Amino acid sequence: MKIDLANIAGTPGARAGFEISERFGPAEGIPVAGPVTGEITVENTGSLLLVRGRLQAAVEMACARCLGGLQQTLEIEVEEEFAGEDAGPEVLTVDREEPEASAISDYVLDVHEFVRQQVAVAAPLAPVCRPDCQGVCPQCGQNLNLGPCGCVPERFPEGSPKGSDSRWAKLGELLGGQQQGANEAGPHPAGTAKRGQVQRSAIPRSPGECGDERAHPRR
Ligand SMILES: [Zn+2]
Ligand SMILES: [Zn+2]
Repeated sequence: MKIDLANIAGTPGARAGFEISERFGPAEGIPVAGPVTGEITVENTGSLLLVRGRLQAAVEMACARCLGGLQQTLEIEVEEEFAGEDAGPEVLTVDREEPEASAISDYVLDVHEFVRQQVAVAAPLAPVCRPDCQGVCPQCGQNLNLGPCGCVPERFPEGSPKGSDSRWAKLGELLGGQQQGANEAGPHPAGTAKRGQVQRSAIPRSPGECGDERAHPRR
């Protein structure tokens, strides 16, 4: 779709909304699994043309960890400024380097290319199929989401507390001895934990003082 913006561009304060539904082929560089839909509003602010809106794009990608297929729907907030009349009308035309590009008249927004760029920017660079995806075994290549493979890890898995690997194991042993010695002394001297805990003991009352109202209920 192409939008003729001549009227809006010539009228400060003018605005118009447009429904979007664009289909893309596999060669267009965005991993969409269906049409990109949504709506945009074009507004002449007086100094520039403001394009705002929201797009929904179902994308199909490969998980960055396990390479499995994943689908997700991107909600894309659109906000782009195009220079107004002062800069000349050419900036409104997106040059796609196609023969028909020369046929595009001034003040025309190429919605197809506009949407394509929005989706290309919004698509995650390293999508994961799920937050706790286990990825593949670096040794045998098995998808670890399907179960353990039986390989003996060469090093600590990513995300282990120390994040250490076998190359540092020897150093770890040496340091480990020292750290244990330090830990025995303890970071907190004995007794500090109990400080402030004053045991409140009940104050014994003599039978005469005991609970005025209960002893002499008002009637
Ligand atoms: Zn995955
Ligand atoms: Zn393995």
